[in-house]
Amino acid sequence: MDRPPPDAEFDVIARITSRVSAGLLPLGPGDDAAILASGAVWTTDMLVQDTHFDGRLSPADIAYKAVAANVSDLAAMGAAPQAMLLSLGLPDADGAWVDSFADGLAEACHRWRVALVGGDTVRAAVVIVNIAMGGHCVARPMTRKGAREGDALWVTGTLGVAGRAWQEPHPPEASLAAWRRPDPPLDAALALARWGRVTAAMDLSDGLATDLRRLTVASGVGASVDVDAIPGGSGDVVWTGGEDYELLFTTGPSDDPRPHVEATGRRATRIGTMTGAVGDSGWPTPAWTHFAGAA
Ligand code: ADP
Ligand code: MG
Repeated sequence: MDRPPPDAEFDVIARITSRVSAGLLPLGPGDDAAILASGAVWTTDMLVQDTHFDGRLSPADIAYKAVAANVSDLAAMGAAPQAMLLSLGLPDADGAWVDSFADGLAEACHRWRVALVGGDTVRAAVVIVNIAMGGHCVARPMTRKGAREGDALWVTGTLGVAGRAWQEPHPPEASLAAWRRPDPPLDAALALARWGRVTAAMDLSDGLATDLRRLTVASGVGASVDVDAIPGGSGDVVWTGGEDYELLFTTGPSDDPRPHVEATGRRATRIGTMTGAVGDSGWPTPAWTHFAGAA
């Protein structure tokens, strides 16, 4: 599958958002979700056939995954999902396909307590699924911006599991399962937001290498990663596989978020420390090659 390089994507976004201002909104484009003056939080995410999924995902998996990706972005802000709009592009009106899709959608909506409130349906050359999801923050929002030099860098879960599903020719079944059915740590993220000691947070959708760089740039700091501490190992797939839908976050140097995360049945692991200069780090070569190619 042919996924666009993340930094080319960023160039497109910057060309648009630099000309269309978000005005006086509390938080416009650039974070995992936007925050409106009303306190509502909105995000959107799109899945396209042959770019984001192939025949190894059932219609139910596709629907479930589209919901999960949006839940992951809201979770990263410390926001609980409420409602969503579903836009569908379909090559044909195949009733069996739509029924399976609806099954996966219902399962995900039930799991994360989110209501489908509208959408749009059109004919398209390939399957396109877009969900826009709104929610509300349970406490002061977590953003990508607030990490400070000396802060501790943490990650939930295990990285690289889903990435192996599309990076390896014969991935293990556990990787395929994680790729088909992402499991964002919503409850852990909400617990962390209520705790109030998180200085910056984002979800890991594009891989640690790309996403950590986004967090450091947004916060104006660097990160030094203890490669041996990363849950999932230190292989390429942990850095570039993507689709982890885990939470990357920072806390004050001596704060311990683990009890709050573990109370929700998840795990948090400290993987590094934020540093002074943007970009300095113990990140392995593949990450840097990736960025240099995009520079
Ligand atoms: P995420 O991986 O968290 O879903 P993205 O990397 O897709 O976020 O997008 C980064 C930021 O750019 C987000 O704040 C998103 O809302 C914004 N963005 C992406 N595409 C567009 C677009 N076409 N127009 C305006 N903002 C966009
Ligand atoms: Mg995100």
